[in-house]
Amino acid sequence: MKPFVGRVVLVTGGGSGIGRATSLAFAKKGAKVIVAGRTREKIVETQEMIGNLGGEAIAIQADVSVGEQVKKMMRTIVDRFGRLDFACNAAGIGGKLAPTADIPEDDFDLTLAINLKGVWLCMKYQIRQMLKQGSGVIVNISSINGLGGTPNAAVYSASKSGVISLTQSAALEYAHSNIRINAVCPGAIRTPMLERVFNETGITQSRYESQIPIKRIGDPNDIANSVTWLCSDEASYITGHVMVIDGGVAAR
Ligand code: NAD
Repeated sequence: MKPFVGRVVLVTGGGSGIGRATSLAFAKKGAKVIVAGRTREKIVETQEMIGNLGGEAIAIQADVSVGEQVKKMMRTIVDRFGRLDFACNAAGIGGKLAPTADIPEDDFDLTLAINLKGVWLCMKYQIRQMLKQGSGVIVNISSINGLGGTPNAAVYSASKSGVISLTQSAALEYAHSNIRINAVCPGAIRTPMLERVFNETGITQSRYESQIPIKRIGDPNDIANSVTWLCSDEASYITGHVMVIDGGVAAR
């Protein structure tokens, strides 16, 4: 029996990488999936992959940094499915890789708008619906870069620290309303975002892997599996948690 039959999940950033793997993982467990993202072709591709698995999905094009678009997306979900059981807020960008003094102001604004304001806007409308139905689980994708300083990615790092703080604050606010809210902090995961880091820095994969205790780059499914588990009843006593999934890097 698939555990999420009859459940409805929204995944932002669902057109690639961690968001796509998470969309597929929920579909395999029987959930109806709303695949959201900025680029129509990519989210439709994920929708079709779910269809090929025999699952049900719709694609909604929305920019998470624009309040009206997030609000409209939530309205579409409720009109279509009547509820939202789970949400994984994975949409994000890496921002410019440069020392703090060289980061352009518009890059700061864009990175914070998508990575931090975007998560807040999504939670705002997701929580409103979850309050109406009396239950829900949200998982926000932060990063191990949000746990401390990251040279050449100060703004990205700050945005991901902000996601942890938003997650913990909201978890405390809604714990008594049967809404659980957790954050996942991935380490290096093989996605288009990481490929860009390899290309822009010239750091090779083998050098990267040599610094990871488990000695491999993570797979998007490593994160997807943790997200579906956090949404499951097996995690029913977990809220405000920051789950690090990084092959051991942060343990040092
Ligand atoms: P990715 O680039 O493959 O996925 C990010 C997705 O977000 C893309 O599909 C993109 O179109 C979408 N997106 C970007 N801006 C958006 C916006 N304004 N509105 C809607 N969608 C938007 O990269 P990924 O690695 O899968 O990243 C997913 C999340 O994981 C991000 O939040 C990222 O910061 C985080 N993360 C990734 C890694 C890693 O090593 N890959 C590590 C730690 C954290």
